[in-house]
Amino acid sequence: MAANQRASFMNDSNLKVLIDSDRLQARVRELGRQITEDYAGRELHLVGVLKGACVFMSDLMRAIDLPLTLDFIGISSYGASTTSSGEVRITKDLDVSLAHKDVLVVEDIIDTGLTLNYMVNIFRSREVNSLAIAALLDKPERHEIEIEARYLGFTIPNHFVVGYGLDVGEVYRNLPFIAVPENPDHLTRRDFSSTGE
Ligand code: 5GP
Repeated sequence: MAANQRASFMNDSNLKVLIDSDRLQARVRELGRQITEDYAGRELHLVGVLKGACVFMSDLMRAIDLPLTLDFIGISSYGASTTSSGEVRITKDLDVSLAHKDVLVVEDIIDTGLTLNYMVNIFRSREVNSLAIAALLDKPERHEIEIEARYLGFTIPNHFVVGYGLDVGEVYRNLPFIAVPENPDHLTRRDFSSTGE
């Protein structure tokens, strides 16, 4: 590599692409079309789960051809680790009431299902008109609680994945694809700011 050429963060050979950008975009458009049909004439309110759903949410809402409103909730179930502890914590509550709204919770991935189960139980007690889930990814092998996502992007095997909003140690959310890092713990400590070799 030339001395002034920066190592590519996105083309790192340690990242094995599982779902490329074209497949993601096509599937999100399909989900958007389905949601548009299902919610026609209703007041759709999207609730994105921070931070992992931010990329999916921003693409999905532009694929829904309806007037809609947005809110975000911050939930932390993993901390800095790559396995679920089962401990769920609200880091940012909703800004507006869910009462009488048709609420669609937008989540990045269903792993154990504990996070969504916790949230759905809270939301049900807030007098919603209806409540459904849109999840980009699902890892059924990992479920500890059965959670039904009415809108699901992809079912994936039991791998820890990054990209398209999903992080490891808060990094990698900006990858435009979903990838499996060969060594997630190693990834967090890598320095991509250096130039040359
Ligand atoms: P659950 O409560 O279903 O076990 O976990 C849900 C949350 O854990 C997700 O919203 C996501 O933030 C995180 N998570 C689960 N699996 C993965 C994964 O494979 N990669 C990443 N980066 N985060 C994950």
